[in-house]
Amino acid sequence: MSGLVLIGAQWGDEGKGKITNYLAERADMVVRFQGGANAGHTVAVGGRTVVFHLLPSGISRPSAVCVIGPGVVIDPEALVVEIDRVAADGIQVGANLLIDVGAHLVMPYHKAVEAAEEAARGGLAIGTTHRGIGPAYADRCSREGLRAGDLVPPALFRERFERVAARRNEVLTRLHGAPPLDVGQALAGVERAAARLAPHLADTPPIVRGALRAGKRVLFEGAQGSLLDVAFGTYPFVTSSHTTAAGVASGAGVPPSQIGEVLGVAKAYTTRVGAGPFPTEAEGAEAEMIRERGAERGATTGRPRRCGWFDAVAVRHAAELSGFGGLVLTKLDVLDAFERIPVCVAYEIDGRRTDRFPRSTDDLARARPVFEDAPGWQASTREARRPDDLPRAALDYVRRLESLTDVPVAAVSVGAAAHAIVEFSEIL
Ligand code: GDP
Repeated sequence: MSGLVLIGAQWGDEGKGKITNYLAERADMVVRFQGGANAGHTVAVGGRTVVFHLLPSGISRPSAVCVIGPGVVIDPEALVVEIDRVAADGIQVGANLLIDVGAHLVMPYHKAVEAAEEAARGGLAIGTTHRGIGPAYADRCSREGLRAGDLVPPALFRERFERVAARRNEVLTRLHGAPPLDVGQALAGVERAAARLAPHLADTPPIVRGALRAGKRVLFEGAQGSLLDVAFGTYPFVTSSHTTAAGVASGAGVPPSQIGEVLGVAKAYTTRVGAGPFPTEAEGAEAEMIRERGAERGATTGRPRRCGWFDAVAVRHAAELSGFGGLVLTKLDVLDAFERIPVCVAYEIDGRRTDRFPRSTDDLARARPVFEDAPGWQASTREARRPDDLPRAALDYVRRLESLTDVPVAAVSVGAAAHAIVEFSEIL
């Protein structure tokens, strides 16, 4: 099977960008199928650190065709800024970028409405990235969305934009008492971006399906993580799209039977950004040590991430939802300094032990982790390139996570550098 799906197995930020970039070296095509510019993939390219938000991570490899699929929501202005920013880092975006005509657009009024709504939620705010992603997906479902293919011809786009923007201004002013959006100015910004993006517009699903049929290596790059899936994550503290492997079918226009192998990416510990339950969250000095060693701050927002221990219950849930054929563990090196490493093997909810991830977020909020302590190795794993190079206790830790999640470990990442990877099996 020539398709390979990479899915975040936790709450996002698992280091998928680095792994996609690593795999993209061998991929003919890299496809984003959900999410928007709220994703932030940090990758090391030729000695520099580059952050991608909307561009597929494979964009740094000129030989790979990069597709922004119909399941993604696109902020045209943010995409143009990103294209210019990566150009400054020496990555030229040309005919290798294809934007699906059916991808929905994030418009300035989405961001304005989102900011007003998060403010109105007060203490119950979701902790979104304020990139307009949620409102854009909401408009898609309520049949008021504009799509990338609508950007041209400009006259028709203007008419549609003005109609929806006027309605959103009613919401902003009457419901939230917020200032209205300057529709003319907002439109001008989008139109400038539209002119830049027009050459990239395409009907992408036939191209992706054709590549799969031809046996090309196609990488489907997930954004965010399984526990943020709108259907199976910790609702309502979730993102607005399907982040599990199921999202590939509707988000890229590929039949499930053609998707291929699925790899989960999980940190060797856990982090979470934003609000919502996080059973294995660490506190005090240990949390700070993980945060410092792992540089755990959001690539999109700069927010410090909440840090904690590996949660095997959660990753097993993700594995079952997406059918992981392999697991890539990242940031093992962050744990190099710890004397002992707690691993969550089950939860206790209202005094009852369970190894199933609860469907109710309220139940999850009451879940107490059942920890098992793994011995630390207190030696550097950064230079390891083969399983045998790892200290014994580190290898035991990896094997323990493998058995707890019931997914074979395909690779372990041991540093931010592009090639700081230990492959356990041939992954693409
Ligand atoms: P993504 O959204 O899933 O791609 O994750 P992020 O980009 O938010 O997080 C990845 C961060 O961790 C980036 O700064 C990477 O350079 C870094 N990183 C990735 N893998 C490793 C690793 O194995 N060890 C260390 N120390 N850093 C890593």
